Amino acid sequence: MKVLICDATAQSALDTIAAAGIEVVDRPDITPEELMEVAAEYDVFVVRSRTKVREALIDAATNLKAIVRGGVGLDNIDVDYARSKGIQVLNTPTASTSAVAELAVGYLFALARQIPQMTASMKAGEWAKKSFLGSELAEKTLGLVGAGRIAQATGQKAIALGMSVVAYDPYVESADGIEMMSLGDVLSSADYISLHVPHTEETHNIIGAEEIAKAKDGVAIINCGRGGTLDEDALYEALESGKVSGAALDVYAEEPSKGHKLYTLPQVIGSPHIGAGTREAKARVGKEVAKNVIGVLKN
Ligand code: NAD
Repeated sequence: MKVLICDATAQSALDTIAAAGIEVVDRPDITPEELMEVAAEYDVFVVRSRTKVREALIDAATNLKAIVRGGVGLDNIDVDYARSKGIQVLNTPTASTSAVAELAVGYLFALARQIPQMTASMKAGEWAKKSFLGSELAEKTLGLVGAGRIAQATGQKAIALGMSVVAYDPYVESADGIEMMSLGDVLSSADYISLHVPHTEETHNIIGAEEIAKAKDGVAIINCGRGGTLDEDALYEALESGKVSGAALDVYAEEPSKGHKLYTLPQVIGSPHIGAGTREAKARVGKEVAKNVIGVLKN
């Protein structure tokens, strides 16, 4: 039995799989062409988000029993096609919840107090005390788009900060301490909007020009969910006009996203899709990946 690690995965996971008597080949920088060539040799692929497992690769992987994704989103895998061929597709749904929720809350503080902009000003040798009047999060309203695991974890932390939390999710009836409402009502009541939905046909640009127009003047928007759910052109215009006061982005319609035009605006802060990038989350992902691989190959 042979497992190919296609994307960087915790060494502890590789050790655990090897200790179970399974051959592990670690090629975290493998190219799509190289992967096509060796695909048929493997029983399991372990991927994160870099490796795309599309139909042609699945066809080439004639011995594949499972694709194990370290992380949540499965948009880099043709899941239905794989399953139609009897290949299991497994992920690690809870391992990064806390990491992403903490980043979203970090962005709430960063937007409210302009922490990155103040730091840049200090590094430029300034003492611009009068330029950075902040606002408080307490008594403000956080509007969640999506009310799944990460949204609810973010909401609980915001409640602890004294915020009111409202959410729109047609598939979730209730969530502790969070008021569920229509998207229109979330938009009209939120001081901060935070997106936590997967990118599907239904959620494509779920926050676009029309939705932003319904939001409060001066709203700030956070996206630590998935690129493609927030219309970046509409956001750019709304930031320029002042309708949206600030934005914090971890995910983008196209990734990697170097030199994105949104970053020409001083009100935009963000990160390179690093929501799950904590030591603790990586260790949890590794543990779950190893459990999934061993589960598939030993049963
Ligand atoms: P989850 O499945 O628990 O939650 C997603 C929620 O979105 C579900 O409750 C679902 O009902 C809801 N939803 C689906 N369609 C909707 C719609 N049309 N309108 C409103 N809500 C809708 O997943 P999660 O673990 O909370 O992850 C949320 C998102 O965060 C995922 O897209 C995931 O890929 C992303 N994520 C990002 C990072 C990162 O590094 N930034 C890391 C992990 C996960």
